[in-house]
Amino acid sequence: MSRTVYVNGEYCAEEDAKISIFDRGFLMADGVYEVTSVLDGKLVDFDGHAKRLERSLKELDMASPVTMDELLEIHRELVKRNDLEEGGIYLQITRGAPADRDFAFPDPATTPSSIVLFTQVKNLANAPAAQTGISVISIEDQRWARRDIKTVQLLYPSMGKMMAKAAGADDAWMVEDGQVTEGTSNNAYIVKGRKIITRQLSNDILHGITRAAVLRLAKEAQMEVEERGFTIEEAQDADEAFITSATTFVQPVVSIDGETIGTGKPGNIALRLREIYIEESRAKAI
Ligand code: PMP
Repeated sequence: MSRTVYVNGEYCAEEDAKISIFDRGFLMADGVYEVTSVLDGKLVDFDGHAKRLERSLKELDMASPVTMDELLEIHRELVKRNDLEEGGIYLQITRGAPADRDFAFPDPATTPSSIVLFTQVKNLANAPAAQTGISVISIEDQRWARRDIKTVQLLYPSMGKMMAKAAGADDAWMVEDGQVTEGTSNNAYIVKGRKIITRQLSNDILHGITRAAVLRLAKEAQMEVEERGFTIEEAQDADEAFITSATTFVQPVVSIDGETIGTGKPGNIALRLREIYIEESRAKAI
């Protein structure tokens, strides 16, 4: 069935949605995005995603075509029009479509930003991978140096997923100067005893909205949290490993570069964090 999507101020059928070939998102990956998950027809942590979007736009000196209140309304309208119970809403804002291709940024007064949103149906809470755990490989982190900005430059992460697939694994963790930065589309964690270890925030990683919630919940549950880098060897030696993102929530990792983690089954801490994260998300979704 055709979805209703949102493009530059209008709701329309997906097959009628159009963006200019001069759009800088298309020509130069000059755009930012967010993915907000939907549980029970409600938005999970919309506020966190809206705040990060505002920050990404500011860092790139890009104007927002809507206010955050309008954005919330558009999200809710898309959930309603598409009867979305569980899945996500993809949002993209680009620096618009100037009259011609030029490296210099166009004047926002004459070239408004473009905005596109669409819904995606996905089984989130009962995703099979959460029961089995996933396998990851390690690859070199070859992305640009401003990974804290959520841009649509996703070629290297896509290549990373393909490298994982070619190696018979589910995903890849990226490594820079000997330490894990993050997963191709998620933040990476290991567990030693009751201590959760994940890389500290900087320009080297995306500041995950799920990461912030999960670390807060872990502390509230009296688990210890240490924000620092770790090596693949330390991860292979850990009791547990897991990833977080808006669409995977907390997902256990059971093997890294072919080495089994812990018992080879999803760990108790990862499963407990997943449970309390989903519980809180359902309770607080708007
Ligand atoms: N790191 C990267 C590189 C990502 O692409 C994502 C998901 N977009 C994340 C981390 C997780 O962020 P969030 O929890 O906000 O989805």
